This record gives sequence, structure tokens and C-alpha cells, in this order.
Amino acid sequence: MTQELAGRVAVITGASSGMGRATALALASRGAKVALMARRQAALEEVAKEIRWGGGEALVIVADVTDQMSTDAAALAVQREYGNADLVFNNAGLMLPGAMGTQPISEWERQIDLNVTGAMRVIQSFLPQLEAAAAEGRTVDLINTSSITAQNIFGYFAAYSASKAFVSHLSRHLRVELGPKNIRVAVLEPGITSTELQGHVTFQGARDWLAEAAKSIDFLKPEDIAETVRFLVSLPKHVNLQQVVIMPTKEA
Ligand code: NDP
Repeated sequence: MTQELAGRVAVITGASSGMGRATALALASRGAKVALMARRQAALEEVAKEIRWGGGEALVIVADVTDQMSTDAAALAVQREYGNADLVFNNAGLMLPGAMGTQPISEWERQIDLNVTGAMRVIQSFLPQLEAAAAEGRTVDLINTSSITAQNIFGYFAAYSASKAFVSHLSRHLRVELGPKNIRVAVLEPGITSTELQGHVTFQGARDWLAEAAKSIDFLKPEDIAETVRFLVSLPKHVNLQQVVIMPTKEA
């Protein structure tokens, strides 16, 4: 395995499962030091253990990205342990489909607090480090996880889709703000991927739709997303692939 990411310091939110976990393993296997952020400590420790078995370096940071003190403390912990981060995979998220007329407002709030405000908190907490790393001449990446729902239309996904459209549009604007500082900004818009995400869905219509889709579509695997992130961050420094839509071949 090449060590093409040796010297890089990667922060990954949502690293305890799914896309974040797979990406942490992929980046670490190419030589990056990885800071693993999520709320479930035991799951993070398992990921860290796997990385260390493979000879990589990992730092476990239990953090709730809906809490600014938590994201600020995480940024300090990364800086103390590894120096300034030069790669943030801003990926933690939650999907709760529901009917607009009856969905509990708390479910809208949880998605907005995490997918929208949480993503922005992470960016604000780590931006000084990304800027410092860029000023040192290092390659610097901010990658935000949005979703195909930011573009395509799905019934009963209005609140989730809107939160992800926010992430996509935020990313496009940030690229203009941060590109001149030599910080690349990319947004990932995946289609259905086999992770724990679908396990949180309680709305029956969406559960039925997902179960039906699983009969005819080979969903993406978290490793497919990890390989895409690895590709993005391995491009030459002057190349910013700004938006990636990645779909299961059979998903419309
Ligand atoms: P998972 O449910 O497997 O991962 C979600 C991650 O977010 C977990 O590691 C979870 O860890 C973390 N998380 C949740 N709440 C918080 C919080 N408050 N603070 C910190 N971390 C938190 O799903 P995916 O891997 O699929 O999701 C990753 C991203 O991909 C999400 O943004 C999702 O919206 C997006 N996405 C997913 C698709 C799919 O089909 N799976 C398709 C398109 C986009 P913990 O519980 O330990 O805190």
C-alpha cells in the first residue's frame, strides 16, 4: 500500500460507523494520521484499534458536533496531538424522513442541528487550523457530505433533503471563499449506501421504499465512498474536484 498521504492530518466526523469509519481506515492505510470524532466511544476505539493493527495512527475524540464547546475542544485535542489538521471530512449526519404535516418538529430540529448547524460548527472550529496548514504550503481539504437528495426529489424526504441542499450550496460558496487561501472545498453527494443511516428511519413509507429498493439495487458500500474521498484528497494541490455525485449503478 502506498503512503501517499503520509504527513497529512485528517479529521473525520461520524467516524464510528458507515462512511466515516471506512474513510478513516482508507486514509490511515495511506499514511494519514486520523482523528476520529463521534459520540460512541466504544465504536471509535474499535476503529482506532483496527487502524493501529494496520500500522496506522489514530486519535479517538468523543465529540457531539451539535455542541460548539465539544467541537472546539476536539479542535484543540487534534492540534495538541498532531498539530494543525489539513483535511476535514465533515460527514456526521442523520436522516429522518417524514410527512410534513405530522412529523414531530423535534425530528426537523435534530436533522438541522446536526446536518446544517453541526456541519458549520465543525468548519468554524477547524478553519483556523486549515488556514494555518495552507499558509504553511500544505495541501488542504474540506470535504462535506451532502446527498443525492440535495438534487433529486424524493417524497417525504423534504426536511432531510433541504438540510443536504444547504450543505451542497454552503460548500459551493465556501469554495469561493476558501479557494484563494489554497483550501480545497468539495461536496460529496452519494446515493443509497449500506450503513446504519437507514436504521434510524421510523417513517413507515420510507422504510417500505428502502426495503423495495434493496431488492433491485446493489447499494453503494462505505468503502466506495472512502475510495472516492481518498481520490479527491490525493489529487495534485492545484486541482479541486468540487462536487461528486456517486450513485449505485441501478439507482435512478
Ligand atoms: P451512519 O449512521 O453509519 O453514520 C453517521 C455518523 O454520524 C455516525 O458515526 C454517528 O456516530 C455520527 N453522528 C451522529 N450524530 C452525531 C453527533 N451529534 N455528533 C457527532 N457525530 C454524530 O451513516 P452514514 O455513514 O451513511 O452517514 C454519513 C453521512 O452520509 C451523513 O451525513 C449522511 O446524511 C450521508 N449520506 C448517507 C447516505 C446513505 O445512503 N447512507 C446517502 C447520502 C448521504 P455516533 O452515533 O457515534 O455519534
